[in-house]
Amino acid sequence: MKTARKSFGPDYECKKEWPEEMFVQCGESGVVFSKSGNYSTAFFEAFPKSPSCFLRGEGSSIEEAEEDCWNRYQKVLACDHEMERRDRKDGYGYCKHCSYSSMVFEPLTKCCKCGKPSYKVVDYKGNFYCDKHKVNKLRDPNPSRYFDDSNKRTPRKYKKRLKNAATKRFRKDGILGPVKFKTSITGSIKIECSGMILSLLFKRQHRMLLGTYKPKIAGDEYDD
Ligand SMILES: [Zn+2]
Ligand SMILES: [Zn+2]
Repeated sequence: MKTARKSFGPDYECKKEWPEEMFVQCGESGVVFSKSGNYSTAFFEAFPKSPSCFLRGEGSSIEEAEEDCWNRYQKVLACDHEMERRDRKDGYGYCKHCSYSSMVFEPLTKCCKCGKPSYKVVDYKGNFYCDKHKVNKLRDPNPSRYFDDSNKRTPRKYKKRLKNAATKRFRKDGILGPVKFKTSITGSIKIECSGMILSLLFKRQHRMLLGTYKPKIAGDEYDD
C-alpha cells in the first residue's frame, strides 16, 4: 500500500488507491483558530500530474483528511473543467466546479516592448517584459526596494518570499500566530504556524505555493 510522507513521525499508510507515482503528504492535527472557536484539523495533500494540480483535504484525523482529498481528486478526474481567472491576471485559472487549478490561460499583462503576453518579469514601474525583452528591464533607482527577478534572487529574499506565501496560506485557513521557517540538513523546508506544518520537499511545491499565493501588488511580498 502507498504511504504518505508525514510532517512528523513515521509515514502514513494510505487507505485509498492513489496512483503509485503521485506524491502525497499529510500532517497530524494542528490547531486552527477561528471566530467560532478553536478546533483541530489534520491535512492530506496530493499533487496529481495529470491534470497537474494541487489538492488538499482536511478532517479531524488524517484518515478523514485523506477521504476529503480523495473525494476532491475523484471530482477533478470526472469534471469537464470550466476555468475562470477570478482575480488573477497571470494566466492561472480555477475550475468553477471542482478543486482543479492550474496555469491555463495566457497572461493578461503584456510585454511593454512587443506586446507579447508576459507576467514573470516586472520592473519597479509595473511594466512587464517577455523573455526576449527582459534585458531591457528598467533598473530601480531606489536599491532598498526589491522586485522579482528570478535570475538575481538571493536565498534570503527567496526565503522571505516562501515565508510570505506560506503565511498567506496559513491565514487563509484561519491559522494565526507567528510563522517559523526551518531548513533541514537535507535541504527540505518546513514552515510552521501554531502547530500546523507546511513541508516543502521539492522545487515543484515551492512553485505551487508561490504561484497560488502570489502577492497582488508587485513588491508587496517583502513587507512583514
Ligand atoms: Zn473541474
Ligand atoms: Zn517582448
